[in-house]
Amino acid sequence: MPKFSKNKKGKEKKNSVREKKENLLFQSPKGMHDILPSEQPWWDKLRKVSQEVANFYNFWRIDTPILESAEIFERGTGITTDIVEKQMFFLKSKGKDRLALRPENTPGIIRAYIQHGLSRLSQPLKLYYFGPFFRYEQPQAGRYRQFYQIGFEILGGEDDSIYDAQIILANYRLIEELKIKNVVVQINSLGCKNCRTIYRRKLQDYYRKFSNKICKDCRRRLSVNPLRLLDCKNEKCREIRSRAPIMLDYLCQACRSHFRSVLEYLDDLNVPYTLDSYLVRGLDYYNRTVFEILAEKYDVSLGGGGRYDYLGEMLGVRRTSLPAVGSSLGAERLIEAMKIQGVSEPTKITAKVFLVQIGKPAKKMALCLIEAFRSAGIKVIESLGKDSLKSQLKLADKEGVELALILGQREVFEESIIIRDMKSGAQETVPMSKVVEEVKKRIH
Ligand code: AMP
Repeated sequence: MPKFSKNKKGKEKKNSVREKKENLLFQSPKGMHDILPSEQPWWDKLRKVSQEVANFYNFWRIDTPILESAEIFERGTGITTDIVEKQMFFLKSKGKDRLALRPENTPGIIRAYIQHGLSRLSQPLKLYYFGPFFRYEQPQAGRYRQFYQIGFEILGGEDDSIYDAQIILANYRLIEELKIKNVVVQINSLGCKNCRTIYRRKLQDYYRKFSNKICKDCRRRLSVNPLRLLDCKNEKCREIRSRAPIMLDYLCQACRSHFRSVLEYLDDLNVPYTLDSYLVRGLDYYNRTVFEILAEKYDVSLGGGGRYDYLGEMLGVRRTSLPAVGSSLGAERLIEAMKIQGVSEPTKITAKVFLVQIGKPAKKMALCLIEAFRSAGIKVIESLGKDSLKSQLKLADKEGVELALILGQREVFEESIIIRDMKSGAQETVPMSKVVEEVKKRIH
């Protein structure tokens, strides 16, 4: 065995992993990941907590197709947003439909709401989802091409600020239940059609003075979507932004009091927030409240959302407007944040009993015996492919079970079974007909 220095060893290992990968005939698509069994306890925990929070705040689960007409995102999310302009996966299909893998869910939910006449149900309607989304991004930490989102939406009814607060609260509680610490909500208001139009003009006037200094993307945004200038990560643009007019100074009376009231609810609930005058979010349909949620030690947002009272109209709601507010959290990011903050791994459901079977007659009985335990709600593990006592006991020990049940030819013949206490090694033979009862007495 050749000796390597520590660095060299690390390098060798990396190279061999890379070589192994290169030699694979197939790999998962770039930016899309398998969620292996070892990761599933984190996902189970996330699904469970999301479901509990949704149930508590009376959100009903909705599942919409992974494919939607591309047009709903073009009209809804916005043709000038990065998501639609650069990140949508289109599907080449035989029919005439132009379909896209959904990059987000809000337009799909509104589509379902209109299609199924959900306005007939009592309003507002509270909906929640957990599912996969797709964006053609350059993969990096916290940014994938397939990722999962947990979303909450409140549709219909009034545009009451209490719903904005309730959406933020549901997200905050979910994150808190996952034991992610030091979470803060960044919040802003984007106003309504009226006050935002005035603000957009002010913003354009301001940035025009710097049109030869801002980046190429921002120069384009200046005419098509000036609010997005506030989002730019370019250092020079950030510097110019620091003196740009802010939306809060241009809110009309109604928007100002709506925003103030959202903040008052958050104060009453002790949900920590900071005002961020530059927060606009990447989607076109937001009005009034927008927010993002961040956690200590994790430098990308866990999720965000806002109010979108105009989206219904944009997607075909007739006659009345559709007040709405919603959010989405990134599942991978929540799990990454839990790990980074040292949250202990959720425990798997472990079995307390291992069935050891030796010889053909015992193997034949094994499945039926396990069914008897299933009816009693006791989980049993086994290794039906192995037939040596030693190897099966070794496995039982590795699984950390309390009891092993040993079934050999003699036991089958005598209609009995051996119960072995794995800690003490003590064994006792009991009648087969009483085994479930006897095990129940012994497990803790
Ligand atoms: P958005 O739908 O853009 O408002 O994003 C809401 C949340 O979804 C983000 O804060 C992330 O947690 C998550 N998210 C968005 N895009 C990605 C991505 N490409 N990879 C992983 N998570 C994402």
